[in-house]
Amino acid sequence: MIISGKQVIVRLKEEIQNILKKYSGTPHISIIFNHEDEPSISYTKSISKVARENGFRLTLYEVDSNTQEDELKEILISLAEDDDVDGIIVTRPYVSRMKTEFINLIPRWKDIDGQTDANIAALYKKEEGLFPATPLAVMEFFKEVNYTLAGKHVVIIGRSTTVGLPLYHLILREDATCTICHSKTSNLKYFTNQADVVISAAGVPGLITEDMVERATFLIDVAINIVDGKVVGDMAINFEEKDYYQEDLLFLTPVPGGVGPVTSYMLLLNTLKGMQKRHKLK
Ligand code: NAD
Repeated sequence: MIISGKQVIVRLKEEIQNILKKYSGTPHISIIFNHEDEPSISYTKSISKVARENGFRLTLYEVDSNTQEDELKEILISLAEDDDVDGIIVTRPYVSRMKTEFINLIPRWKDIDGQTDANIAALYKKEEGLFPATPLAVMEFFKEVNYTLAGKHVVIIGRSTTVGLPLYHLILREDATCTICHSKTSNLKYFTNQADVVISAAGVPGLITEDMVERATFLIDVAINIVDGKVVGDMAINFEEKDYYQEDLLFLTPVPGGVGPVTSYMLLLNTLKGMQKRHKLK
């Protein structure tokens, strides 16, 4: 069964509107983005679109390789102190003068992409916090079909601090056994073929083939690769093949239209969670 991002988003939109009904104000997100970096621009555009469609306000701050340290620090301090700002995102890769200590100026409950040390520590210590949006988006696909992770073996491919590593901790919280593979893993197939769930976030088109996921009952493709002008994932698996359509035997997420579009919604939900925490709302 293919689970599309669209399907997940229907539920998330409803969840967001139900929370918004309880508030009088409009949630406000500020994005500091590098206008010299194409992925940073397109990430900002897609978050902005989804935020506006769902009734959030947005303020964008353009920075670049010429932006001075003081300026970056000042923007972050003013956003941190402004009670009208509910969420702050600094797009990656950070501009050259952006230091980790500046990122840590973002208050924990306004840190809607889980970038600060406070939220990273919370994730590792199994405490409450705001966690990175893409790993949270992945977790929504399990929730969508009530898939039980407890006791399962999950293999994650990729160990980045934005996807693989935080995802590892979210998966462990669900009592699954989790293995992380990466570019230095020898014999990737050995690991993937033992997995109930394979999540690929390597950014290598064609990395995962059918013979590598023989036991798997859930395949999640996080990657966004451009090949000949087309968006493809890491998994070179023919989703159209008849066997895969057998109900509930195997769950799959497509690329494009899978994890990617759900990610922005997790930023909105993190903003609402942060607001609830900051204002001690129920
Ligand atoms: P990254 O380059 O920081 O990390 C890639 C990871 O994959 C590394 O840990 C590396 O060791 C591993 N890797 C690379 N080649 C490998 C190989 N041949 N075998 C095994 N492991 C290998 O990238 P990232 O930021 O974590 O993003 C990963 C992918 O996910 C990219 O395609 C990116 O576009 C996509 N992504 C999607 C979303 C989304 O919203 N869906 C968000 C972030 C990233």
